[in-house]
Amino acid sequence: MVKAVIFDLDDTLISEKEYIKSGFNHIAEIINSRFAIDKKQVFDDLMSIFEESPQNVFNRLFDKYKIKYLKEDILNLVKEYREHSPNIKFFDDVIPCLMELKSLEIKVGIITDGYAITQRKKLKAIKADLYFDEIIVTDELGREFWKPHPKSFELMKKKFNVIFEEMVYVGDNVLKDFISANKLGIKTVLIKRKDGIYLNLVKTKAHEYLAKYEINTLHDLTGIINSI
Ligand SMILES: [Mg+2]
Repeated sequence: MVKAVIFDLDDTLISEKEYIKSGFNHIAEIINSRFAIDKKQVFDDLMSIFEESPQNVFNRLFDKYKIKYLKEDILNLVKEYREHSPNIKFFDDVIPCLMELKSLEIKVGIITDGYAITQRKKLKAIKADLYFDEIIVTDELGREFWKPHPKSFELMKKKFNVIFEEMVYVGDNVLKDFISANKLGIKTVLIKRKDGIYLNLVKTKAHEYLAKYEINTLHDLTGIINSI
């Protein structure tokens, strides 16, 4: 019987693309105030530069505008991006799913990788504390404990006082979300988000990396839980 469902954050509960847009909006405001370049123009340029390649986006923006810059200027913008308070919200299917799980008396948690300050700002923006019983930001345990390291799953098991077989993990990234959970005996569920950054990796990975179940919407999660 399932007693706890743990979710990944990015592209599982919130859209990574929406976060990127929010970050670029923040950067566009800064560039606008420093260089008097139209904010909408800067935002559109950031998006198209990012779509060409996600590497060195801010360097390439300055190059495009023929603005001279130091490494420090880039690091400052990266810090601004990572530490901004994002304008993001849950995917529409999240709250209904959480309500269903609550009615089944199933505990809910989050395990998320990423820079601690960035992830905490995202969690604050969506008021995650109101909806989740336990939240682990793996970066706060140490960089070496980001997924696929099993430590966060072991910690969550202790916090919920359940066995691995009573746990479900829902994530979007086959590179790191499921391999440890599968080995531990946690039931794994891949959520395929339209626009998800890791969506097209699914076919490239070996069996042990893949989730046991696949869904396109969290509305289908309780159906899977009832069948387990
Ligand atoms: Mg993710």
